[in-house]
Amino acid sequence: MRCRACRAPAVVDVPRHHAAFCTDCFLRHCREQVGRAIDHFGMLGRGERVLVAVSGGKDSLALWDLLLDLGYEADGLYLGLGIADYSPASRQAAEAFAHRRQARLQVVDLPADLGFDIPVGSRAARRAPCSACGLSKRHLFNSAARDGGYDAVATGHNLDDEAAVLFGNVLRWDLAYLGRQLPVLPATDGFVKKVKPLVRLSERETAAYCVLRDIDYIVEECPMSAGNRHLRYKEALNAIEVRSPGTKAAFYFGFLERMAPLVAGAADEEREGLHPCPGCGSPTVSETCAFCRLVAAARA
Ligand code: SF4
Ligand code: ZN
Repeated sequence: MRCRACRAPAVVDVPRHHAAFCTDCFLRHCREQVGRAIDHFGMLGRGERVLVAVSGGKDSLALWDLLLDLGYEADGLYLGLGIADYSPASRQAAEAFAHRRQARLQVVDLPADLGFDIPVGSRAARRAPCSACGLSKRHLFNSAARDGGYDAVATGHNLDDEAAVLFGNVLRWDLAYLGRQLPVLPATDGFVKKVKPLVRLSERETAAYCVLRDIDYIVEECPMSAGNRHLRYKEALNAIEVRSPGTKAAFYFGFLERMAPLVAGAADEEREGLHPCPGCGSPTVSETCAFCRLVAAARA
């Protein structure tokens, strides 16, 4: 196997592109894919400040590394979920990376700063752990970015993640979610812009990127992910991708090009009636926002 770009011995193959790369050319390929995603979807302008949602896993650390190398002013925010074993190890990976790159990492720890953890909070609020976790992340990343004067929150969703979420939304024809499933969600009242610069890279590519860049990431999955239906969607798509490389990219980018404009209105309707939550000021359509209700239930 030879590198497509320079003909040196290859170390990584990317079947979707019918290509293999040596280390240097693969790292350049990753930078190019992220740069192309940022430019094509208008994610970030030069000089914009970015807050990277850092979990300590391969995707978020690869994203942070790539944004720094591409010259963006990118700080990290790590959210401690209070999940035994997993949270201390993931925090350590995030802090070690920040130290190595001399980058700024902010830490919000749910148990220490807000008085609850995800296992207890989700039970008290009668939510699935991943639902309570997702809600907490969306709320806390947005408020930290807003308070810190950042122009955007960047998350490490890769092509596999986006294709799996799209698959789930299509299986249920969830138009409101489909209308929001975009690589850029522009800033609106109370919401900071959200961007996903890794959508042109697969999970396998972000893992290879970290290995070749010698980035120590937490390999263990969060124990709460067991039974998560997105994992089943990923498995189903992986089975198809092995036989037909490029299917995930065709599914996801075909959706963005041909279907997303048709369902954009469904997400807009949801935003009607938003007002500031009396507890925290975040936009909500309910009397009190879902995060404030989660916190109240967890502390009760
Ligand atoms: Fe949160 Fe669920 Fe992901 Fe664990 S698996 S980090 S609980 S969303
Ligand atoms: Zn609130």
